[in-house]
Amino acid sequence: METKRKREIVIIGGGFGGIKTARMLAKADVNITLIDKTNHHLFQPLLYQVATAALSPGDIAVPIRGIFSKQKNVRVLLGEVTEVLETQKVVRLKDDRLIPFDTLVVACGAKYNYFGNHAWEKHAPGLKTISDALNIRERILISLEKADQTESPEQRQKYLNFVVIGGGPTGVEMAGAIAEIAKRNMMRDYNNFSPDETHVYLVEAGPRILNGYDDSLSDKAVEMLQDLGVEVLQGTAVTHIEPERVFLEEGVIESPNIVWAAGVVANEVIGSLDVETDRAGRALVAPDMSLPNHRDIFVIGDAVHMKDKEGNPLPAVAPVAMQQGKYVANLIKNPALYEAAVREPFSYLDKGSMATIGRARAVADIRGLKLSGFLAWAMWSVVHILFLIGFRNRLHVFVEWMWHYFTYKRGVRLITGRDEVTDEPGASDDLMGAYRGKV
Ligand SMILES: Cc1cc2nc3c(=O)[nH]c(=O)nc-3n(C[C@H](O)[C@H](O)[C@H](O)COP(=O)(O)OP(=O)(O)OC[C@H]3O[C@@H](n4cnc5c(N)ncnc54)[C@H](O)[C@@H]3O)c2cc1C
Repeated sequence: METKRKREIVIIGGGFGGIKTARMLAKADVNITLIDKTNHHLFQPLLYQVATAALSPGDIAVPIRGIFSKQKNVRVLLGEVTEVLETQKVVRLKDDRLIPFDTLVVACGAKYNYFGNHAWEKHAPGLKTISDALNIRERILISLEKADQTESPEQRQKYLNFVVIGGGPTGVEMAGAIAEIAKRNMMRDYNNFSPDETHVYLVEAGPRILNGYDDSLSDKAVEMLQDLGVEVLQGTAVTHIEPERVFLEEGVIESPNIVWAAGVVANEVIGSLDVETDRAGRALVAPDMSLPNHRDIFVIGDAVHMKDKEGNPLPAVAPVAMQQGKYVANLIKNPALYEAAVREPFSYLDKGSMATIGRARAVADIRGLKLSGFLAWAMWSVVHILFLIGFRNRLHVFVEWMWHYFTYKRGVRLITGRDEVTDEPGASDDLMGAYRGKV
């Protein structure tokens, strides 16, 4: 007797959306191929803690293969998708391999938007991968070393300036964490300059940081950042960036530590799809997350533009990607739902949003309940620990946070001589060069 061929499900991306989809299909009678260009799933919400020496990369990243070692219907494929050929129903990898599918779930995420100023990317790196986080960490640590070795306060000022561009949750968290380092944590280790000499700037072009949060929480966040010593420049657009210099509408800030956290744009894979996109290149999908002309191809997570019932765009956050992954997996598992002429639309359940500020404070909006300060931070901590994948990671992050909370010390302050950091031209080169090739 001929055995029925199993449906081939291909998922592009082992981020929040892709992993959720594959996990929700654990008991489904399908073959899943999960393709990612890296071998790990990355918990991006805590990347800034790697960049600011609080956590190690292994605390927030897990091998995708490890996640699915017990799920026998998943094949993990390390490879970069370059193109989707809808009519042939195959995806093409960078090495030209073709992977066939019956159903495709595109969950390839987004990248930072430099609004056409591609040259800025080198001078103001974004925080998206482990490599980005380690580069930023390296720059901060080298800058402090350089400041320690520069006698003249005028000449060392730029090494003590830190600029974060973009006042969304990532920018706010990053600025708060840098202020902790630059004004408190590590200062006892440096004798030749004072914490008062350090300046942390958070630059936001819009009228408010944490746009999308209630105004009261945005104001609270400004207050807490200022308490930590961050200079919050709202309504201030960046006009140009060059090595170690950020030009604002009024004035210039000199600094080798410039971090970009302003807006995202969709991944290139979306450009190869037969679908209209918004200005950020995100796919405009049907209410069931599929492409309007291809009901076997779904796009989820940061790569998609979708509105809620009130017509507001859904935010680019992990819960949206995960709920969309769950929704698509549910369609795939249920032939009646999948084959329905008109499928039930996806609907997002907003459970709230949070952003942490410094060592033990945060703002949170939990379905209308607005919290700030320590209680919000405690909730933020619990939620982030719970969402981390892997018991070892949860335990380790918890221990690190407790250690950091009680001792004020950041554990992971290693300069390891990464080549990418040394590429940056400018006055920091001499010292950076000294580390080149040492490890
Ligand atoms: C620094 C930072 C902080 C954040 N903080 C928060 C937060 O506090 N709370 C929150 O809810 N959200 C936060 N987010 C947003 C959240 O991480 C994203 O919304 C979420 O990751 C989106 O999930 P996704 O599955 O769409 O994409 P991702 O999780 O980005 O996954 C995409 C995957 O696709 C892979 N990929 C990309 N292109 C290809 C290709 N061509 N071929 C093969 N594989 C490919 C990538 O390697 C990656 O593994 C943060 C994001 C960043 C960058």
